[in-house]
Amino acid sequence: PRPRVLMTVRSSNTVSAAPILIKLQRDCATPLPVLRHVADAMAADMRAGLEADGRSDLKMILSYVDALPTGNEKGLFYALDLGGTNFRVLRVQLGGKDEHVVATEFEQVSIPQELMSGTSEELFDFIASGLATFAQKEAGKFCLPQGRTRELGFTFSFPVKQTSIDSGILIKWTKGFAVSGTAGKDVVACLNEAMKRQGLNMRVSALVNDTVGTLAGARYWDNDVMVAVILGTGTNACYVERVDAIPKLHGPNSKSGRMIVNTEWGAFSHGLPLTEFDREMDAGSINPGEQIFEKTISGMYLGEIVRRVLLKMAEDARLFGDCVPEKLRMPFSLRTPDICAMQQDSSKDFEVVGSILHDVTGVSPDLITRKIVVDVCDTIAKRGGRLAGAGIVGILQKMEDDSKGLVFGKRTVVAMDGGLYEHYPQYRSYLQDAVTELLGPETSKNIVIEHSKDGSGIGAALLAATNSMYQH
Ligand code: BGC
Ligand code: MG
Repeated sequence: PRPRVLMTVRSSNTVSAAPILIKLQRDCATPLPVLRHVADAMAADMRAGLEADGRSDLKMILSYVDALPTGNEKGLFYALDLGGTNFRVLRVQLGGKDEHVVATEFEQVSIPQELMSGTSEELFDFIASGLATFAQKEAGKFCLPQGRTRELGFTFSFPVKQTSIDSGILIKWTKGFAVSGTAGKDVVACLNEAMKRQGLNMRVSALVNDTVGTLAGARYWDNDVMVAVILGTGTNACYVERVDAIPKLHGPNSKSGRMIVNTEWGAFSHGLPLTEFDREMDAGSINPGEQIFEKTISGMYLGEIVRRVLLKMAEDARLFGDCVPEKLRMPFSLRTPDICAMQQDSSKDFEVVGSILHDVTGVSPDLITRKIVVDVCDTIAKRGGRLAGAGIVGILQKMEDDSKGLVFGKRTVVAMDGGLYEHYPQYRSYLQDAVTELLGPETSKNIVIEHSKDGSGIGAALLAATNSMYQH
């Protein structure tokens, strides 16, 4: 028998991957005019979505949050955060002006994969039971006056058409959720029914999107916070709008003359530099044609885009040798944390890149191949970060145009949260670069982008306090 020869990848294979990389970089390029176009289109879509007959990619959802936390909030409040692969339950003891947040406790539960595509009852029963278990462990600092109903801020990170601060109808699932029987229903009612089945006495005082929770949470500490952005599994942004700039707002006007508006910018689609890989990923997704901005910039998708590029390089340019690695054909087999880890690799031989690629492909690619892969990761992260930055400038621009000087002329804070922003330094700096390029060095000094870690939980509890039944 012939001796087995360990196949190493010849660099001639990777030479022919170079044109694919160059085309990718060209298709994903985000020079200043592209960024400007995206920022302008974002601002225009925001305006259109605020109109009474709002026909726009952006839903511009009214949050009914018209009073932001003041710091005077007092008492024990709960928060429940459902939005991605985990849900979190939180208990917060608020001490009012002098003491602020006295104590917090939280638990995190991962959502079994099958529940993400099960029935509405199954999902809400699972959540309510986690909440009930958590509520039973109330002790020590966390005591509630006798006979008082526990109150909950419910952070629900999906597009919901709100009808009041404590009710709203799910428009659609995003981020890989495909739970049947929830769309079109009031999610607070779904949760209430499940809590009843669990025998849990708790009242939802505020239903908020995670962006809205983040804005409220950050605003509690800093009065200059005007915008909140989530860059995690999914993406979204909200901001403080003047009531007189919201033609579609009817009925009781806000006390403060302001209201937080949830843009649902994940659905934005205008002027984005997209590639064949984006189009194929979208076509194969569970929500084709939807959430295009989200699919271009958020954590659920960046790794998957890179995988598709590498698969093409494997097929057309034998990037990983004569065979195309089977696992590389599997959707989502390369995740955003993987491409992030590869970009952090500063070792001489790209050892981390080599070992991650070995996991996904079964081969040990040579140095040139590793470098090409890192370039692909960088191209996709760069496009994502820069487009996210352009989106933020679009929001700020819209606010500035309506208020002349009140946004760009003073310190304005954008509160950020989400794993992608938190853990991907290159993405973060691409985002900041785009903001600085668009605003110019002077104005961008006034715009502070600040990480507000897990602010949405505390934010939801604060909004539950603001809307507590015991305060009316
Ligand atoms: C949802 C938003 C949410 C965002 C970040 C998107 O998929 O549509 O409601 O705020 O993800 O969690
Ligand atoms: Mg979240």
